[in-house]
Amino acid sequence: MTVTKQVIMLLLSILLVACDGPDIGSDADKATAERRVFNWKMVTTWPPGFPVFQEGAEEFARRVGVMSNGRLNIRVYAGGELVPPLQVFDAVSQGTIEMGHGSPYYWAGKVPEAQFFSSVPFGMTAKGMNAWLYYGGGLELWREVYAPFNVVPFPMGNTGMQMGGWFNKKINSLDDIKGLRMRIPGLGGKVLKRAGGNPVLMAGSEIYTALERGTIDATEWVAPFHDQRLGLNRAAKFYYYPGWHEPGTMFELIINSNKWNELPADLKQIVETTATAISQTIYSQMEYNNQIALQAIREDSRIELLQFPEDVLRELRALTAVTLDEEAEANPAFKRVYEAYRNFREDYTEWTRLSEDVYQDILRSE
Ligand code: CA
Repeated sequence: MTVTKQVIMLLLSILLVACDGPDIGSDADKATAERRVFNWKMVTTWPPGFPVFQEGAEEFARRVGVMSNGRLNIRVYAGGELVPPLQVFDAVSQGTIEMGHGSPYYWAGKVPEAQFFSSVPFGMTAKGMNAWLYYGGGLELWREVYAPFNVVPFPMGNTGMQMGGWFNKKINSLDDIKGLRMRIPGLGGKVLKRAGGNPVLMAGSEIYTALERGTIDATEWVAPFHDQRLGLNRAAKFYYYPGWHEPGTMFELIINSNKWNELPADLKQIVETTATAISQTIYSQMEYNNQIALQAIREDSRIELLQFPEDVLRELRALTAVTLDEEAEANPAFKRVYEAYRNFREDYTEWTRLSEDVYQDILRSE
């Protein structure tokens, strides 16, 4: 037999053995999967060019494109470019769009318990949220909650601590909240209402004019960096902290579950790992940009930077407990997530109380 014939026989025998073996299907599938190119779309809830948030989504797509060597191409569309911001979840759920980026509390009307995966008043900060989601069972619960909608969530960003907001009058007691017209969405708005205020729903683009013209008395938005970008420092005088209503709002990458299942294992790993990396990128950028913006706000003599009185915060916290309990009473799905969240937070608080809390108190008293 010539060498060529020997090689052919060898190849044939390998092929025959392979045909008998159970692995031929998966090898062939793997080879096909490795060649397959996915062209996906991602829609976000953010305005076009929105710093840090929209930029984070675009950076995610860029990195996935590089790491997958062009096998997973994601085209990112800002809110309204392809899908209105508040329809992002539905578009991904129906599979008309493969991916979305936003925050779970935007879907509170459809999935009220999703708010625990974003942020709740007097809830956990970014560090606690990360511990709960990645290791404390939070993410598994989140996936269960989204499963009936054919949506798979991944944590992808956190705003860090937000600010209490911009007010055109001082808040010295709970009485000053009575009748206050404030733009504050979600559970924070419900708590404000219980305190006698009037929560107002309003898109980001309308806030500046409404506050400047006195249509509203106060607004929350994000924190110094984004608030300044929106011009809120020119529309009201009193800037209050802390953001009791949003102590660390989590963002999500959401993927249609059928589309997710079509991805080969290596692309899945690239998506998951990049989402975690971008989560850190967004959070770090928020912390960095906010301290820079705060310096400018401090130097502006027109602005008074004020802490909410402690008794006001205590009362808002008590009203938050009543609000959450009432929601849980009316909705078993909400109750289930609330209990898991609360149990984790109790244990986690024991740890932070004797670690970071004490440490920060010492630094503050210097
Ligand atoms: Ca906010």
